[in-house]
Amino acid sequence: MNDKYNNDKYENGLDRNAANYAALTPLSFLRRSATVFPDKVAVIDDDMTLDYRTFLARCRRLAAALAQSGVGPGDTVAVLAPNGHELLEAHYGVALAGAVLNALNSRLDGASLGFILDHGEARVLIYDTEYEAVIKDALAGLTTPPRTVAIERDGGPASLDGARYEAWLDTAGDPDQWRTPADEWDAITLNYTSGTTGNPKGVVYHHRGAYLAAMSNAMAFEMNADTVYLWTLPMFHCNGWGYTWAITAVGGTHVCLRKVDPDLIYRRMEERGVTHLCGAPVVLNMLLADMDQRGRALSRPARFALGGAAPPSSVIRKARELGFDITHLYGLTETFGPATLCVPQPDWAALPTEQLAARMARQGVINFAVNDARVYDHERRRVAPADGETLGEIQLRGNTLMKGYLKNPETTAEAFRDGWYNTGDLAVMHPDHYIEIKDRAKDVIISGGENISSLEVEEVLYRHPRVSEAAVVAMADDKWGEVPCAFIDPRPGLELDVDDLIGFCRQHLAGFKIPKKVVLGALPKTVTGKIRKNVLRDRLAG
Ligand code: ADP
Repeated sequence: MNDKYNNDKYENGLDRNAANYAALTPLSFLRRSATVFPDKVAVIDDDMTLDYRTFLARCRRLAAALAQSGVGPGDTVAVLAPNGHELLEAHYGVALAGAVLNALNSRLDGASLGFILDHGEARVLIYDTEYEAVIKDALAGLTTPPRTVAIERDGGPASLDGARYEAWLDTAGDPDQWRTPADEWDAITLNYTSGTTGNPKGVVYHHRGAYLAAMSNAMAFEMNADTVYLWTLPMFHCNGWGYTWAITAVGGTHVCLRKVDPDLIYRRMEERGVTHLCGAPVVLNMLLADMDQRGRALSRPARFALGGAAPPSSVIRKARELGFDITHLYGLTETFGPATLCVPQPDWAALPTEQLAARMARQGVINFAVNDARVYDHERRRVAPADGETLGEIQLRGNTLMKGYLKNPETTAEAFRDGWYNTGDLAVMHPDHYIEIKDRAKDVIISGGENISSLEVEEVLYRHPRVSEAAVVAMADDKWGEVPCAFIDPRPGLELDVDDLIGFCRQHLAGFKIPKKVVLGALPKTVTGKIRKNVLRDRLAG
């Protein structure tokens, strides 16, 4: 045997110990920022301002209150609240109690919330009284309902029995214990998928991934202690793409926002000097339309991370005109949010707007804590060549992938088959190794054997001046199997002539890609602003 391989000099006496190895957890960000910046503003929520010292103290009191209520390791604590300081506190306090946070989607109905509370086995439910009616519905069907704690703000006093948030925190006194996970692989949060793909699944995040996601996203979005972050993205969506932890990591300021209202967003941005915000393209689109209408522009540039759907080039163009610097991100609940981002290359700055927008609309390259991304052609059983043409499924592996789906080993194994996380998104790999999504596996329209990318048709529709929003789905057709059907929300106050729109498509698309039917009206959306194509497909089927 070769001595070289037998030699363990790099192991002997070089073990992990308490000094050189600690479980990675985003809880450490809060402790550090409270030490480095005790008097700095951590959170602004309407008229309330919390410095880092106070923010930390409140998170500890939440942890102690939970412990007093019998919550411990392995328990779930659900929270249904707008983007306020309480939900932010839960991102630390629940984990400090050793428990797992399940931030609930506030647009869900009682039955769906009931399903989630039951499936996640929540022991405690902290809710804002704004949602009391739906909470009553959700609790009605449960055999072992959680203990409730009411946050009494805009929704007024609670009518349900149970604790009141502020009084409950007060009962916890001023604890100074600090509990961190024994293992960085321990669960930190539980996030249910938004259900555009069927039944909600409980995605389990780990402390390690949460730490790495926060670090990567802070780096990707160039954040530091001067960062002022506006909470336009729901904190319940992938824990606000990890920014609940990232802003604290850099010692920045969280500016809460209880309602996504374009006028309020603009005013908050100007008043508070917001430097960064996130959201789906429709949120940005709504903000831009409002700013445009009121003749407003940003007085200082702000960075907007756009994700959750591909941004049409028209949105990218308008955003740049009004003072936004765009970062395009792609990810899923299963990947802690942002898994790839469209990193700009130095020579792009000189490109004409149209070409620049086309580059920026691509989903890009891996984020820092993702190890690898590829486009896999299942049919030919090979990695798709970087030719910008061969379609395949995006597969990911790395350190910001979920632990798996709660109580669902089969679906977990299926998602992780072949040692990759299989996203269900269909894309091409460009020669510069940037990924571009063409569709979700089930959104592709197959017409007479030809694949039609719904995104490509939508991109053209969005360029029409009278179109505000567009979604294209497959419609059954006797002759072709499937044909494209377009659902269009026209710009307010403007007549949209369908023949004119079809004529416009004819100028920009091959004949078989032109929508064979156009339906006008508002589009159904998820809370994160994604168009619910499953609902549109159901409409056509029904
Ligand atoms: P759901 O699958 O229930 O909608 P997610 O919020 O996890 O829940 O959605 C992830 C999906 O959103 C991705 O699989 C992809 O189809 C889409 N998506 C996310 N970001 C982008 C993007 N930048 N461009 C195109 N599609 C995106």
